[in-house]
Amino acid sequence: MTSDTPNGFRVAGEGYFDWPQALNKVSVLHGAKCKQCAEVIFPSLLDCPVCVTPATMGPYDLRGSGTLVDFVIAQRGPEGFSVPYVQAYVKLDDGPTIYSMLTDVEISESGPKVGMRMVLVLMSIREEDGAVLIGWKFRPDETYCA
Ligand SMILES: [Zn+2]
Repeated sequence: MTSDTPNGFRVAGEGYFDWPQALNKVSVLHGAKCKQCAEVIFPSLLDCPVCVTPATMGPYDLRGSGTLVDFVIAQRGPEGFSVPYVQAYVKLDDGPTIYSMLTDVEISESGPKVGMRMVLVLMSIREEDGAVLIGWKFRPDETYCA
């Protein structure tokens, strides 16, 4: 079994989030904000994709709260994914709409609903060569009352 960390975890991407999570610290995604036009993006880039200013993006942490914009239930997936699973777009309260898988949602008529409040979780997204690949997902925010 190969792994990139002593405890058998791999981390998706580079610098998208902190892993392992710090105890008693809310997880954030590491995005970027444009110093010229204030556009906020995730994942981070060096150049602003909106005003096209080179090397203007600075680090900007995105809180893991948002609203479900759209989703699709995948009945098939790449190797290592357990199906069915839910792929979604979540509009973060801090700006960008990002791709994410969902967790803790029922895959039925009473399942995910567009507009529901979501929160970020860092967790296994699939297995890769016997290691657990850690990434981000969103789950319904049970603490939210409309
Ligand atoms: Zn910009």
